Amino acid sequence: MSKVYLIGAGPGDPDLLTVKALRVLRTADVVLYDRLVSPEVLALAAPDAELIYVGKHEGEQESTQQLIFQLLLEHARRGRVVARLKGGDACVFGRAAEEWLLLARHGIEVEVVPGISSALAAPALAGVPLTYRGLSRGFAVVAGHCMGSDGVDWRDYARVDTLVILMGVRNRAGIAEALIRAGRPPDEPAVFVERSSTPQERVVDTTLARVAAGLVDVESPAVLVVGAVAALRAELAVSVAEEVLL
Ligand code: SAH
Repeated sequence: MSKVYLIGAGPGDPDLLTVKALRVLRTADVVLYDRLVSPEVLALAAPDAELIYVGKHEGEQESTQQLIFQLLLEHARRGRVVARLKGGDACVFGRAAEEWLLLARHGIEVEVVPGISSALAAPALAGVPLTYRGLSRGFAVVAGHCMGSDGVDWRDYARVDTLVILMGVRNRAGIAEALIRAGRPPDEPAVFVERSSTPQERVVDTTLARVAAGLVDVESPAVLVVGAVAALRAELAVSVAEEVLL
């Protein structure tokens, strides 16, 4: 029986795959994987599985998405078990639901295997609890890649205790500036976690004002956490591999 599993592969460390993701990955005939899926995770696929890279690159997002739709339908129709692997959780900024909808419309069975999103894993691994009694009663996860008229209105998020911003590296200065303008304190702690859970993980402690001033060097993929909880890292993250104090 053909079936497509929409699998969240976690933030990179294969130990952070779910048991179910591992079980499905080991039995799938075809694996369609994104850019953020780590080589260590891919290495867990069956030796005879067909591995197909379908990462999206700038300017060709839509054509790649069309190709993914085609490949999913084609392999499922051939009666194969397909593992559609996405970084983190497939339903957090992963366009999984669009693929799910397409497959559902074509009568193909889909099963979702939730993964550990970088939105949760990156802060936790860096010693930043998203909630903490007295400091943060809640958090919001927001995409930071669109600025300008079709972007996020940062005023909506100015009052959320902890902000977790994905895909915000390129627009980091504009985001920080907008948050300060919306009323967040310029000296509010902020942390960037680059390549969380991988050997290349790098954590940068800073403040909104420094990010707004363009003083913080970071590379994608990184998660930005803004809020008082970011300061807890100083005491909690004694075991963090690399600490860069700016
Ligand atoms: N579905 C993914 C998110 C996809 S959007 C998830 O749930 O994690 C891509 C963004 O995710 C990146 O721009 C970055 O902000 C974040 N990201 C994904 N993996 C990451 C990692 N290992 N370390 C830091 N950020 C990561």
